[in-house]
Amino acid sequence: MSSSFSKNVVVLGTGGTIAGLNVGENPSLGYDAAQVAVGEIAQQAQVGELLKSLHWGLKSEQVAQIDSKDMDRDVWSALCKRCLFHLNDPQVGALVITHGTDTLAETAYLLSRLFAKATKPVVITGAMRAHNDPLADGPHNFRDAVDLAIRAASAQTSGVWVVFDGVVHDPLRIQKFSAQSLNAFHSFEGDVFKAQIAPARIVKSGLPAPRFEPFHDPMAWASWTFDASIGVHTWPQVELLTCHADMTNGYFLDHLIDVKTNKNQLDSDKSLSGLIISGLGSGTWPKVLEPGLWRLMALGVRVVLCSQVPWGQERAAKGSMLAHEHFHFSTLEPRKARIALMLELLANA
Ligand code: ASP
Repeated sequence: MSSSFSKNVVVLGTGGTIAGLNVGENPSLGYDAAQVAVGEIAQQAQVGELLKSLHWGLKSEQVAQIDSKDMDRDVWSALCKRCLFHLNDPQVGALVITHGTDTLAETAYLLSRLFAKATKPVVITGAMRAHNDPLADGPHNFRDAVDLAIRAASAQTSGVWVVFDGVVHDPLRIQKFSAQSLNAFHSFEGDVFKAQIAPARIVKSGLPAPRFEPFHDPMAWASWTFDASIGVHTWPQVELLTCHADMTNGYFLDHLIDVKTNKNQLDSDKSLSGLIISGLGSGTWPKVLEPGLWRLMALGVRVVLCSQVPWGQERAAKGSMLAHEHFHFSTLEPRKARIALMLELLANA
């Protein structure tokens, strides 16, 4: 679907359930993600009337075709290159990205950091039901994403947002909380989920994209602006360690120390540069980890502590009993902190 309209919304497809196909008549038999081309997803969503009424055209482009559980830096890099290309194209007014829901929040956060200075809106969406499901939610989500992208562009509002089940989310806060529900995503704001969603965040309210409250993070992350000439193999390696009860002393940390000291002959590009600790409560970790963490830090690995508890961190971070004085603490959700640390290491490379 393309046109001779003066502005286009460009849809970049990456796969996911929105591009999935149920394997049988009965959706309970399961589905295969990433089967349907993004152009077909746009056709199914029947956005023709909407585009016509807003005098916009639509172009689609397949950047990848994956289940987002397999999202990696190669696909991220390919996606960022296409975003950069289209954001610089005067014919393009806005971008929509279709994505699997499993790592959608991570990609949204990455793009929001890399394209923070973009002057056009970027809206990411996906679906919980396959393309050929009789009750597919993809068309609705896709229409909402196109609608918001064009409305934001027309209001000269830029930014990266996620639209899902009729709600606009901030990439900084969004998390997937359900493996089944159509409203799989929730956003933490202050110390509550927006159970009563602000009207400005409901797509149908017809308002331009909402503004979100600032987020308190004691880490002042350095930013890296996407540079297509820097190969993904040089992006720093940042790992994530999840804390839990009954942790084995040093089991994973010993392996990371071996990687860092190259004892296991990994090529130096894959050497560890950073570690996020997905801590407990308001940012604590079992003391059995301490010797290994000290050793990693002495070897030059940047260690940042977060909490795996989904909310309350903004308040907790203001308290004084949080992290050990030698650890940096971030209120970001750990998987997003992993990305933030990777970008910071790139910025300081
Ligand atoms: N596994 C799928 C994916 O993330 C789930 C989904 O899209 O809902 O690609």
